[in-house]
Amino acid sequence: AVVVEGLVKSFGATEVLRGIDLSVAAGEVVCVIGPSGSGKSTLLRCINLLETPSAGRICTLGVEITDPDCELDALRRRIGMVFQQFNLFGHLTVRRNLTVAQRRVLHRGRAEADRVATDALARVGLADKVDAYPAHLSGGQQQRVAIARALAMGPELMLFDEPTSALDPELVGEVLTVMRELAEGGMTMLVVTHEMAFARQVADRVVFMDGGVIVESGPPDEVLVAPREERTRAFLHRVL
Ligand code: ATP
Ligand code: MG
Repeated sequence: AVVVEGLVKSFGATEVLRGIDLSVAAGEVVCVIGPSGSGKSTLLRCINLLETPSAGRICTLGVEITDPDCELDALRRRIGMVFQQFNLFGHLTVRRNLTVAQRRVLHRGRAEADRVATDALARVGLADKVDAYPAHLSGGQQQRVAIARALAMGPELMLFDEPTSALDPELVGEVLTVMRELAEGGMTMLVVTHEMAFARQVADRVVFMDGGVIVESGPPDEVLVAPREERTRAFLHRVL
């Protein structure tokens, strides 16, 4: 689903990604871990071209996104992205949050968009919140709405950038549960997270990044339990 080869990203003179090779197969769940500033968000943002790579090749869902002629808007439609901040439209109801892009971007009619929104809300356990405004929901509920909004677009790939980092601890679990169900349903997912228990249980593969490179990657029971690299061990010591 995603193939990254020799990806380099610089901001001015600073090389933030220094030659990343990574592939994510269809249906695979890959968790990316690593210290602050290691380039995790930048990697995710390159995959849907929110950042332009400085060098290297990225093929996302069969589209060479590093090819200047690629149909970027068409590709972005096929990718769902969920951030630390939920980025919901505060002045719109949950239903409208879920239908605006469906109608404007996918040109769905009102009835179809509403039906898809209802289905997506049911998947995240919030069918009863369709008429609520975001401000009246808890952080965990808002993040689940953000996930439902992405799902309503029918994505083939979901990118998550620390989706639970802004939440109070007691609200983290409900969001991780939704993500676990999504993974079990076969969604292709690339997840930047500090939730090691989630990575251990749900990921097919864990990637440890440090200083703009992938230091180590492999099955969770290897990378998280018996890492080969000293840098991975040191990181896990700090966070576990
Ligand atoms: P965190 O865990 O804190 O979210 P991260 O691993 O996601 O960190 P990135 O956000 O990818 O790290 O940032 C990697 C490096 O790139 C950091 O040193 C950051 O300051 C730098 N950086 C990111 N975006 C920009 C930008 N638009 N302009 C300049 N530097 C940037
Ligand atoms: Mg980040």
